[in-house]
Amino acid sequence: MSESADLAPIRASVRALCANFPGEYWRRLDRERAYPEEFVAALTEAGFLAALIPEEYGGSGLSMTAAAAIMEEIQASGCNGAGCHAQMYTMGTLLRHGSAEQKARYLPAIARGDLRLQAFGVTEPTSGTDTLSLRTTATREGDSYVVNGQKIWTSRAEHSDLMLLLARTTPREPAKSRTAGLSVFLLDMREVKGKGLTIRPIRTMMNHATTEIFFENVQVPADNLIGAEGEGFRYILSGMNAERILIAAECIGDAKWFIDKATAYARERVIFGRPIGQNQGVQFPIARAYVGMRAAELMVREAAALYESGRECGAEANMAKHLAAEASWAAADMCVQTHGGFGFAEEFDIERKFRETRLYTVAPISTNLILSYIAEHVLGLPRSY
Ligand SMILES: Cc1cc2nc3c(=O)[nH]c(=O)nc-3n(C[C@H](O)[C@H](O)[C@H](O)COP(=O)(O)OP(=O)(O)OC[C@H]3O[C@@H](n4cnc5c(N)ncnc54)[C@H](O)[C@@H]3O)c2cc1C
Repeated sequence: MSESADLAPIRASVRALCANFPGEYWRRLDRERAYPEEFVAALTEAGFLAALIPEEYGGSGLSMTAAAAIMEEIQASGCNGAGCHAQMYTMGTLLRHGSAEQKARYLPAIARGDLRLQAFGVTEPTSGTDTLSLRTTATREGDSYVVNGQKIWTSRAEHSDLMLLLARTTPREPAKSRTAGLSVFLLDMREVKGKGLTIRPIRTMMNHATTEIFFENVQVPADNLIGAEGEGFRYILSGMNAERILIAAECIGDAKWFIDKATAYARERVIFGRPIGQNQGVQFPIARAYVGMRAAELMVREAAALYESGRECGAEANMAKHLAAEASWAAADMCVQTHGGFGFAEEFDIERKFRETRLYTVAPISTNLILSYIAEHVLGLPRSY
């Protein structure tokens, strides 16, 4: 599956923008655990974060394939899109299920960069991957819903105005089906910070601006309910396919970065009187990483093409995410090995990218859960959980 040549200029302009944010920039942020404010502002100004917003709302109305190419190029340039990727993947829920009024109210401001939609509040401490067991409730009271509960790993919440929030609006028992009773809200955090909404940062092994969030009688206007009450799980699932495809594209970018670094180093590093890359013991792991990356890239392209054609893509989005996350992690490990001791030195950026890409076999969905999905939904095996 080859990519259309139309994307070459987009790829080139992302590369050009990223060249202004070299390794020293990311190293400093990593040391300080600081948010990439300038990088996110530059991407916003260039319109890349509004790639999926239709032109009528001020975005560029690009396809999922183009959005994936943008995220891939960011990672392949050595930058880190984790500070802002949610604006792309949360967009599908608002576009596909938001009302005309909601889209008119929020999308132009997001496209201009006046509003950030960077937070996605799904995971909770007690339910983890078992989303249907989440406990945060939203109870209708007059013109509002009142939210109580807790989220964890809500990344970028301190740097976002809006959060796409999944909460239970009908208790699990009386709900019609297993998946009914959850609803999605577009929460304007600016209005409720300090009024029941508390955000606490969580320090992690990489610079990720993730947080835990506490809701105590937080009021959300009923107008901010997306789609129909109780149907939120279905909406979120289609958004999760977008998330998996875009993060898979980021992993492809990471894998390309590691492979480029390793190849260049293997050519220039001379030990025992010859380049280390002349040894099959060094070149085979690089070649193997390349083969794995290319195979994963094909699946990412297929998943993106299915998504943008509006067809069912759950299996492909999951397989793309799985293959790409494995490919980037294998490439990261290979890159450290190829560099020997220098793979551990901060100034080579390899150890930083190694820590950053490790996340993606766990989040946004872990490998085991992807394999369970394939076993059940593609292979027809009994549900294991
Ligand atoms: C840095 C970071 C950023 C994140 N950002 C966000 C965010 O912005 N928004 C958000 O909502 N979430 C976010 N997450 C949460 C992320 O999606 C979850 O961590 C992930 O889905 C795994 O859930 P869990 O951590 O609760 O693990 P658990 O569900 O507790 O699972 C733990 C382990 O057990 C395995 N396991 C569990 N059940 C089964 C089973 N039935 N069969 C086989 N294996 C099983 C899992 O595969 C996993 O390896 C983030 C996480 C991290 C670490």
